[in-house]
Amino acid sequence: RLSKHYPVLSKSLIRKRIGTVRACDNISFDLMPGETLGLVGESGCGKTTLGRAILRAIKPTSGEVLYRDETSNHYHDLASLREAELKPLRTQLQMIFQDPFSSLNPRMTIQQIVSEPLRIHRLASGSELHDRVAAILTRVGIRPEYRNRYPHAFSGGQRQRIGIARALIVRPRLIIADESVSALDVSVQAQVINLLADLQDEYRLTYIFIAHDLSVVKHICHRVAVMYAGRIVEIADKNTLFENPSHPYTRALLNAVPCPDPDITIEHQLSGEVADVANLPTGCAFNPRCREVMPACREQRPELQAISDRTQAACHLHNHAQTVAIRTPSDRS
Ligand code: SF4
Repeated sequence: RLSKHYPVLSKSLIRKRIGTVRACDNISFDLMPGETLGLVGESGCGKTTLGRAILRAIKPTSGEVLYRDETSNHYHDLASLREAELKPLRTQLQMIFQDPFSSLNPRMTIQQIVSEPLRIHRLASGSELHDRVAAILTRVGIRPEYRNRYPHAFSGGQRQRIGIARALIVRPRLIIADESVSALDVSVQAQVINLLADLQDEYRLTYIFIAHDLSVVKHICHRVAVMYAGRIVEIADKNTLFENPSHPYTRALLNAVPCPDPDITIEHQLSGEVADVANLPTGCAFNPRCREVMPACREQRPELQAISDRTQAACHLHNHAQTVAIRTPSDRS
């Protein structure tokens, strides 16, 4: 179970630990090759921390990230590998960042930006490097003749395509897309999402797609995990989650999605402040905002449990749910 905690320090001269920020806490899920898992929740719920901890951009406080290397058919625990052991796997694990305006170095040309991972990992040089940059730029819809231009010469959508090319050029297996389309106009969002979906089939990619916008997630993901206050509160296949959500927070998030039909009135259920992960309430972290709160919710924090073969949820409403076996990586070998 993966956790990333940060100490809260006092402001006095001698800084003492006065608390803990549980940015992501006790997280467990599996992800199959070729699958897209959406990770949704409000700002500050721990989505980005979780994504960065999975890729070891930050070191988790505890827990394992079991990753099967297809070339050796061997499981590695990314959370505990030393940097030198991690380096050969880095090409298989890539991230596409949120902001296409700041994620590309403005002083580098597109050729330099896209070829950088190949140069760092010494995977190609000379004409091969040149050809691979041209091929990947063409594939993401950027004309290779523009390779000597700088990022400012491109629109937001084009920059995000360049960011995708940079991630793809090392032929990764897992890509974490962190709010990759949220800074783009809606029409451009759709183009980039369609591109990511096409590339998934072509390159056999597995995605974790981090977003706060549920309508975006609906189009691209196979399964969706909903996070609240550093924990997964529901994880289900897409259709089940959108049509029959099990957790009150998921229901509230779905009701918060704007409806374009003026004749349909939706009662918004999400009020109150997002939980402070440095100062969580006792019991269920969602209890101060939950419309279905019960006495037990203020005493005991619910654990994620299987409530059907398609859904796991962490809510006392499902305490008497049937127990269904959850697969673990060792079951798969
Ligand atoms: Fe609401 Fe209780 Fe379920 Fe938490 S455990 S979501 S407070 S019903």
